[in-house]
Amino acid sequence: MAIASINPATGETLREFSALSAEQIEQQLQLAADTFKTYRRTSFADRSRMMARAAEILETEKQELGKLMTTEMGKPLKAAIGEAEKCAWVCRYYAENAERHLADQVVETNAKKSYVLFQPIGPVLAVMPWNFPFWQVFRFAAPALMAGNVGLLKHASNVPQCALAIEEIFRRAGFPEGAFQSLLVGSDAVEKILSDPRVAAATLTGSEPAGRSVASIAGKEIKKTVLELGGSDPFIVMASADFDTAVTTAVKARTINNGQSCIAAKRFIVAADIYNNFEERFVREMKALRVGDPMDESTEIGPLATPQILDDLVEQVEKAVAGGAKVLTGGNKLDRPGNYYEPTVLVNVDPASPVSCEEIFGPVAMLFRVANVDEAIALANATTFGLGSSAWTNDEHEQQKFIDEIEAGCVFINGMVASDPRLPFGGIKNSGYGRELAEFGIREFVNIKTVWIGG
Ligand code: NAP
Repeated sequence: MAIASINPATGETLREFSALSAEQIEQQLQLAADTFKTYRRTSFADRSRMMARAAEILETEKQELGKLMTTEMGKPLKAAIGEAEKCAWVCRYYAENAERHLADQVVETNAKKSYVLFQPIGPVLAVMPWNFPFWQVFRFAAPALMAGNVGLLKHASNVPQCALAIEEIFRRAGFPEGAFQSLLVGSDAVEKILSDPRVAAATLTGSEPAGRSVASIAGKEIKKTVLELGGSDPFIVMASADFDTAVTTAVKARTINNGQSCIAAKRFIVAADIYNNFEERFVREMKALRVGDPMDESTEIGPLATPQILDDLVEQVEKAVAGGAKVLTGGNKLDRPGNYYEPTVLVNVDPASPVSCEEIFGPVAMLFRVANVDEAIALANATTFGLGSSAWTNDEHEQQKFIDEIEAGCVFINGMVASDPRLPFGGIKNSGYGRELAEFGIREFVNIKTVWIGG
């Protein structure tokens, strides 16, 4: 894949970049290794000051940064500005909490003193996706840098200017040269970089195949990985739920980020008693969404990020229809320049068909009718993924059943799944392993060192 910024709303190529040469990669890896030797000894106070400065830059420049994101990957500008603000939040969160999360833990044993120490491990490679081109990177970089590691970013090939802008933010915030570097390389360069002894570990946010590939390389090299992969999140609505809020949130949960979010709700599982009303309202609200230029304030759905994603979506919907699904609204590309697809609702999708379990990356929802809570849970769990889940009910018994029995990295009751720096984030099953955010995230890439001192 070429490393290029191509505006998804117009198809216009804005900038192209050559992939780094082997020699340039070597220089960047050496710089990372050299920087780590000194950066690891910086104090939490110094790192916090720099991280807080990064937060300030993100807030002050959120308009320009938002425009950059929208231009490269098509999310509505308002959401892109919100993404810059959220990145400032995660920077501040770790600036204020990293020292506490990584404080020594004294453990009483037969030693004179024994304790657990958290030490940085070195340069960490982050292979990142385009869909939240700032947020995915900052939620890795803020804890990694606060822990004393240095970061090497291999960003998605369609967002190179975002990659460079992020590097620049950390540089301007005062982090030493080499503490955070963007490597403009294609995915074919990942194996060599990850196999390099100077790289300590890797985190990948992206698709399942990319995760399998990076994890196998890391496995061969005995390097730690965190994988944040795809999802096919259920959104369950039971009869006792606040109906209006549930439907409106359902539409938002499916179409956020133009439908291209790992934690977007993808399968809507609705109790039979309210199903017909839900279907009617959901379709009406999906139809009413304003699709258009993502730079326009009133736009709710912009273009998909690349022509390939559009083609994949067209194919998935065609496959579903060929397998018996019915299209209640949408189902087509828009006849205009750019990668636009209509908000679409499918019913009668066979729950056993591959399409019902695959990740659908675009504004396409599937509705399912269930008789009771047990059927809802069985259908929710009938996927190889296990990232997020959202269940709507005011019945406490049902709430507890969902909390206990849904197979996912998180369960949101009467709320939409969202990440929050204070709460761990990640999946189970083919959605990956490891956690980002909160104290769990910052402890992924540290040496948990046991210290035992005898008398
Ligand atoms: P992708 O194709 O897997 O790309 C993600 C990153 O991996 C890019 O930097 C890509 O580089 C690289 N990559 C692709 N194949 C690779 C390989 N074989 N070896 C090494 N690196 C490889 O995914 P995407 O289409 O950009 O992003 C969408 C996916 O990310 C969805 O599945 C979504 O659910 C998932 N996602 C998950 C989370 C989460 O937190 N769980 C969050 C956001 C997105 P190139 O661009 O150069 O190909």
